Amino acid sequence: MSIASIGQIIWVLGIVAWYFIRRPYERRAKRVQVVSNRRTRSETIGLAAALCGLGIVPGFYVVTGIPEAADYPAEAWSVVVGAIVFITAMWVFRRTHKELGRNWSITLEIRDRHELISGGPYALVRHPMYTSFMLMGVGQAFLLSNWIAGLAGLAGFAILFFLRVDEEERMMLETFGPQYRAYMERTKRIIPYLY
Ligand code: SAH
Repeated sequence: MSIASIGQIIWVLGIVAWYFIRRPYERRAKRVQVVSNRRTRSETIGLAAALCGLGIVPGFYVVTGIPEAADYPAEAWSVVVGAIVFITAMWVFRRTHKELGRNWSITLEIRDRHELISGGPYALVRHPMYTSFMLMGVGQAFLLSNWIAGLAGLAGFAILFFLRVDEEERMMLETFGPQYRAYMERTKRIIPYLY
């Protein structure tokens, strides 16, 4: 088996893990009432971009090999780095879901009896789930030896993040006021101690 296909198989396994980590929360979310929803057009575009970049484009590449012209030779070290980063991403992803629990939403929503979470990964950064998406994108870039399929994840993440984060923080500020402001003062957005 080629190094390139090992990278692709690890990516597929990572996506399967992603799905099984998220599924119980998605099911539970259906039963918790939504109090306010901010699903604007830019939010829909951001979600679609993330789905394409982290799912559809690399998935299509793994199945069809297209766009072949963007392939470059795979290296073992790159697959190892990619696997480590992707596993780290899934670990962070799982922790954020456990911590958010019933407050979880796929989009920007405030739920019935919404609580401000500031423990676990949320003690370091305000958006650790987006940190995990960023790490997924980095992992994907190292796992898939194709410029387009590899880098699509980081592009999709960046579009979702920058379209969403200001609105999300505005929503949290309106909902939690000084409590969220104080929380903002002691945390960074997605990279601990940096940004
Ligand atoms: N931005 C966060 C959460 C993503 S899920 C992260 O990256 O980890 C999106 C939902 O989480 C939003 O609808 C919002 O209501 C909720 N949310 C975001 N930050 C939160 C927090 N600190 N406590 C509770 N809920 C939060």
